[in-house]
Amino acid sequence: MDDRAEVVRQLLRWFERRARDLPWRRGDPHAVWAAETMLQQTQAATAGAAASIAFNEPAPAVDGNVSRVLARLHAVSEPADSAAGRRRLWELAAEWIRLVPASHEPQAEDPEALPAWKRRMLRRGRGAWNQALMELGALACQPAAPACAEYPLAPACLARTQGAPEKLPARSRRAKTAARQAAAFVLERRGRFLVRTRSEGFGAGTLWEFPNCEIEQTTEAAFAAAARVLGLPPAAWRKLGLASHSVTVRRAALHALHARAAEPIRRRVRRDGFRWLARRRLAELAFSAPHRRIIDTWLMPVQERAGFGIPPSPKQGNA
Ligand code: SF4
Repeated sequence: MDDRAEVVRQLLRWFERRARDLPWRRGDPHAVWAAETMLQQTQAATAGAAASIAFNEPAPAVDGNVSRVLARLHAVSEPADSAAGRRRLWELAAEWIRLVPASHEPQAEDPEALPAWKRRMLRRGRGAWNQALMELGALACQPAAPACAEYPLAPACLARTQGAPEKLPARSRRAKTAARQAAAFVLERRGRFLVRTRSEGFGAGTLWEFPNCEIEQTTEAAFAAAARVLGLPPAAWRKLGLASHSVTVRRAALHALHARAAEPIRRRVRRDGFRWLARRRLAELAFSAPHRRIIDTWLMPVQERAGFGIPPSPKQGNA
């Protein structure tokens, strides 16, 4: 990589255009910390994210998205889930953050036209850099299909140059533990989606989720559960994909299905504390990691996702 300072400038410029309006980007330091803790479910990345985003410290932050981006950018061969791989990724994150200026001025022709939260966020250069890496991982550098061509790191990315970025980050071969299987039902009505806050367990009353339930191992079981939980026949649903998630050694596979709602369903779900919220509103709320992955992977507007996802309905609005 010839000019890392230029890579930093390019990514921050991209982030200035593409940063999503998320609640912790508007908040005070405590709100930042609380949101990060909830979303990451207290991973070691959290301290660095809070230190940089809230206090503009030159602290590296490495979550799953950042791991993937850095592993590809530098073609890291050590497995990301090994001690050596984690050490290497943290070293790289620390190298990068040292290149980031403490203060970054927005590059737009008229910076004052940017929303106040965005100007404030960008001017904290270190926090903006860490969030830009996370955003790149969430919107572009995704596990199976990185959308390289239109993103700012492409010229500098070694994995892309080598031709198979989707093969990184490497994973160690360890005995597979049985994954917990669950299904999440993305039910849509006129561009709005059925969600509610969790009623029990971690994040009860705070974290949002799609209707969901535990299932047996197969995708067929997910379709049968959709019919049981929401009363729509299996034929009404289509499979979106798997939103897998690991916390330490526990693995969970979340089978995501999508359907459009009919009138009887609307009356039935109103009783159970559900709400119909627009896509843009979903992007602002705190969801647990696998449910957040469903939103980022399949529900973002098509123009945000370079051709993936569910096309927006003609009548979209805000909740
Ligand atoms: S060029 Fe592609 S693989 Fe490399 S960081 Fe960007 S999106 Fe990821």
